[in-house]
Amino acid sequence: MTAVDEVAPNVFRATGTDVNVVILQDGDALTLVDGGYPGDVGAIENAIRSLGRRPEDVQGMLLTHAHIDHMGALASFHQRFHIPVFADPTEVAHARRDYLEQATAKDFIPMLHKHGVLPWLLRVARAGATKPLAIADAQAVLYDGPLDLPGAPVPVATHGHTSGHAAYHLPQHGVIITGDALVTAHPLSKLRGPQLLPPVFDHRHGDAGAALEHLAALEADTIVPGHGPAAFMPIADAVEQARDRGR
Ligand SMILES: [Zn+2]
Repeated sequence: MTAVDEVAPNVFRATGTDVNVVILQDGDALTLVDGGYPGDVGAIENAIRSLGRRPEDVQGMLLTHAHIDHMGALASFHQRFHIPVFADPTEVAHARRDYLEQATAKDFIPMLHKHGVLPWLLRVARAGATKPLAIADAQAVLYDGPLDLPGAPVPVATHGHTSGHAAYHLPQHGVIITGDALVTAHPLSKLRGPQLLPPVFDHRHGDAGAALEHLAALEADTIVPGHGPAAFMPIADAVEQARDRGR
């Protein structure tokens, strides 16, 4: 059975292959935020069943960004159960694969001598990292308050890691789901705690600073990142730590 952490009331963190999936529960209904790698679908389905629910109970699925390690279960559940997928208006085109802002295997060749890089590449390849995957009809979120979905997540524009990256805020619980705008660990990083991803993963470094400004302005003290454990500290402090550490 997949381990599921309840990081706040009715807010659960499940894990795929070195990547997080967040499940929001409201009665019998669920919202999924991100979906792991294609090979993580079974683990995500188990996580949902461990809450006594079924994938069919998911009312909507949110994408922080359209990288393969965040789209897996979303693409599968969308296809199998016709559950709608939502993302930032720019990221909708990325999910459709009109373009691709993702590191490919050749980007990692200069890093292969570094500790842990090769085992990580092999692990994520097994999880389907190189599988072509697209979501043809994701719908655009509006940045004007809570979405009409279980958990009432509020989209927050955090462009930078990808051109249309979004975070999701749960003001009622003081939770911020940061996606890859801010993480707390990654197999290719020696750091533990709030940090930015290694630059090889970022499409546009320039905007990451603005994304952090948007995060730091939120009221939140439970941080659920795209990679690494949840962190329990004010988001403004986490942003400051990530900035100080640079890369
Ligand atoms: Zn990621």
